[in-house]
Amino acid sequence: MERSEHAPFVDRMTRVRARMVELGIDVALLSVGADLPWLTGYEAMPLERLTMLVLPREGEAVLVVPRLEAPRVVERPDAFTIVPWNETDDPVRLVARLCHEAMPGGGPATAAIGDRTWGRFVLELQQALPHTRFSAANEVVGPLRRIKDPVEVEALRAAAHAVDAIVEEMRDRPFAGRTEADVSREFARRILEHGHHVVNFAIVASGPNGASPHHEASERVIEQGEAVVCDFGGTMHGYCSDITRMFVVGRPPDGWADAYEVLTAAQEAGVQAARAGVPCETVDAAARAVIAQHGYGEFFIHRTGHGIGLEAHEDPYMVQGNQLVVAPGHAFSIEPGIYVPGRWGMRLEDIVVATPDGPDRLNVAAREPVIVT
Ligand code: ZN
Ligand code: ZN
Ligand code: ZN
Repeated sequence: MERSEHAPFVDRMTRVRARMVELGIDVALLSVGADLPWLTGYEAMPLERLTMLVLPREGEAVLVVPRLEAPRVVERPDAFTIVPWNETDDPVRLVARLCHEAMPGGGPATAAIGDRTWGRFVLELQQALPHTRFSAANEVVGPLRRIKDPVEVEALRAAAHAVDAIVEEMRDRPFAGRTEADVSREFARRILEHGHHVVNFAIVASGPNGASPHHEASERVIEQGEAVVCDFGGTMHGYCSDITRMFVVGRPPDGWADAYEVLTAAQEAGVQAARAGVPCETVDAAARAVIAQHGYGEFFIHRTGHGIGLEAHEDPYMVQGNQLVVAPGHAFSIEPGIYVPGRWGMRLEDIVVATPDGPDRLNVAAREPVIVT
């Protein structure tokens, strides 16, 4: 993972430790998932070999890493040191020993474990640390991670602008006569060409397939007069992009344009509602109300948005029942949709960051349907 040398890892670790003290957590154990790169700049591959940051409330943080992966770790001695393990070592015992060294006199009473850790390692660690009570590290790290610092917001903005540019490029590309899969591959190629390191998804859902929000691009041939849902994104310098725009081949089907006007108004209402101090569920309700008022309520079948950062979907979720209050630094999608089974679908998605001055929309691509041939 490429990161600025000045990325605030030490600061993040300090804040995690303060929360551990607050919550009475002796040690945090972080493996695969986004907590580890957020704290160290290193993303563990989801391997059968254990990678684990042992982060005690006080004292040195140690990254236990398979020896063959160690060359990929950028050491940050001010934040953590590395202990590589050999193929014949037992990494679970190594982690348990480090836990005992960090908490002399019985080892840690409480450990917060990353929520993506393989179940196998959780079970083995629980056996190796029988006197330790395990809880979810998300309670410790989640509230911190969901407030994006300026470095992170700019990383999200760069990723957003990259996919915005792809929307513009696709304006001049043919759709009719091509399969969804072919167009999807083109999106994927452009995602990489525009500086992402990974393609996360490239949904291309044409005609009636558009009514399935996460439709997998198929061999269906796109035809004249169809609307095509294009929802795509990737990961650039660790941070994710995610945008949905509608492409229309020629003229849209009957009734589609009226519904799209409603969708645009709903999305705008969602973005404008996304202000610090407002509960997440209110943001969802703002977008949903517009769609419901126009009689499409039953066709908006998912939440309005999801948080985004190191992960494509993370806290905070814009969904009914989520009373979490939007705070400056929260980054999330606003992506209402209308899906009429058997006929067509539509979604419009931008990434928004809440700021003290209101919502900051990271995506700048035009929101009108893109008319293509
Ligand atoms: Zn989605
Ligand atoms: Zn999306
Ligand atoms: Zn999304």
